[in-house]
Amino acid sequence: MSQSSPDYSKGAAYMNGTYVPIAEARIPVGDWGFTHSDVTYDVVHVTDGGFFRLEDHLDRFHRSLEGYRLDPGVTREEMRTILGKVVALSGLKDAFVAMLSTRGVPRVYGSRDPADCDNTFIAYAVPWVDVIKPEVQERGAHLLVAQVPRISQNSLDPTLKNYMWRDFTRGMFEAKDKGFDTAVLLDSEGYLTEGAGFNVFIVKDNKVITPDRGALRGITRLAVLDLCPELGLEPVVGPITFEDLMEADEVFTTTTAGGVMPCARVNERIYGNDRPGPISARLKETYWRKHKEGWHMTPVNYADADN
Ligand code: PLP
Repeated sequence: MSQSSPDYSKGAAYMNGTYVPIAEARIPVGDWGFTHSDVTYDVVHVTDGGFFRLEDHLDRFHRSLEGYRLDPGVTREEMRTILGKVVALSGLKDAFVAMLSTRGVPRVYGSRDPADCDNTFIAYAVPWVDVIKPEVQERGAHLLVAQVPRISQNSLDPTLKNYMWRDFTRGMFEAKDKGFDTAVLLDSEGYLTEGAGFNVFIVKDNKVITPDRGALRGITRLAVLDLCPELGLEPVVGPITFEDLMEADEVFTTTTAGGVMPCARVNERIYGNDRPGPISARLKETYWRKHKEGWHMTPVNYADADN
């Protein structure tokens, strides 16, 4: 590499028309994405050089854009090209690939009218990272049901991806203070919702159940629901109370940046033998084995780095 060529080895970003090394990707302080958390995003992963369920992520991203009335003026085809190019530039075979749109900086100084903003499109690829560390997944995560309730879905639609994480962040502090790995939140009626960046499942007998409310429609959650029938399990999307959680046989969480992540404890309750339960372990193994077999994969064209 010549001295002047950009170093994409730690990741590559696209910011409104320009590709830059990840360390150079920044937004202005006046962008409402920063000042009002007026931004949406999605994150897809690349494993062994292929995107996983890229079209499902693009579908969800477009639903989020419409829900927040954001229009970055980039077609779906252009997004696919940009996402492929940031991965190709980074050269990463296992990556975490984000697409975002912020409201932008108002064209009229001091304006409070969202129509005065040109919405941005940002994408970046960075090395793969697990939201729950692999060694914690191995022993089974310890979850705390935090005191703070999940923000009402009447105020913030959890199916539109957002960075308004005050409730999760409060929950995370509480969990860490009490010696747990991470937190899950109940809604104000006492039903289980989700955690900071992951969906939650319980296993009861042959049923694999995930909340029907207060949660993102996770793509990993969808993958697990899809896998259940072939493993002889019944997928259920339904209400889960605190008591259901405590009386479950097993608990696990799911996210793009981690896959299927088994849990061993919730609050003082210890499941099974304080290790990942057998159904969670089977789902995790199947999820990753299917990746190796090319399930829902779209290969990255690394030659695009030179185009
Ligand atoms: N719930 C929240 C709040 C999230 O932010 C995420 C992912 O970032 C998830 C659930 C899991 O969704 P996915 O499996 O699509 O990554």
